Amino acid sequence: MSDKSILVTGGGSGIGRAASLVFAREGGRVLVADLYLERASETAELIREAGGVALAVRTDVSREDDVRAMVDLAVAELGQLDCAFNNAGIGTAATESTNTRIVDMRQEAWDRTLAVNLTSVWHCMRAEIPHMVERGGAIVNTASIAARGALAGSAAYVASKHGVAGLTKSAAIEYAEDGVRVNAVAPGHIETPLLEQALARRGGELSPRNPVRRFGRAEEIAETVVWLCSDRSSFTTGELVTIDGGRLAR
Ligand code: NAD
Repeated sequence: MSDKSILVTGGGSGIGRAASLVFAREGGRVLVADLYLERASETAELIREAGGVALAVRTDVSREDDVRAMVDLAVAELGQLDCAFNNAGIGTAATESTNTRIVDMRQEAWDRTLAVNLTSVWHCMRAEIPHMVERGGAIVNTASIAARGALAGSAAYVASKHGVAGLTKSAAIEYAEDGVRVNAVAPGHIETPLLEQALARRGGELSPRNPVRRFGRAEEIAETVVWLCSDRSSFTTGELVTIDGGRLAR
């Protein structure tokens, strides 16, 4: 990652923070974006304390003007844009307090989930790709195992993550000849604040139903994300990499 400029959304917590730290540890310069500036700043501070280069910005990825300003800042401050990890997202617990089936879902919950999890990825890629065409670049989007199958009571989340998978593949085939690779990660249950919210909503019922018999750690997703952004995965594009402790292998 040395000499690479990297943008990470949702970098103030969980998987985004873990990836930001690994990008920086491998020599990358990182713009950490999050809806909450204090979270993004904390990640940037952790990177600087470890001797790396990072800056933070407040961005609501569901707003196109915010996304454009974030990408402009990355290019202005870091000089270029080599990689982007479009990771910010919300779980069902952020919009629905109960397990709600399709007929009973509120319009507001549907709209917010699709805006933050899916439309945001389109906004991000629209702003990022022009900086990568010709120079080359790599994009990783965060999908979920909910992009491979459904979870009952989470239709908006499931639809948003299936959408991320489709958008990833479309971008990969459209920009391959321009030297831009686009992949996605599909995490299983990973120990982050998002999972804690899901656990709280279900009264702690969620168990690691995978052969490994534990929840994953954010760092275990970060390693794959950094690999997908690096030249070591130069022939990998349009791929959805599942990282779930073998859960979907059953
Ligand atoms: P997290 O809640 O720890 O981190 C998400 C970060 O995104 C937070 O810092 C939050 O402030 C930020 N964010 C939320 N809305 C935003 C917005 N509109 N604009 C900018 N930033 C925003 O959660 P996490 O588990 O690290 O989740 C990261 C991604 O991984 C999400 O896309 C999530 O859907 C996905 N994912 C998580 C799991 C899991 O089990 N934790 C599993 C599969 C997929």
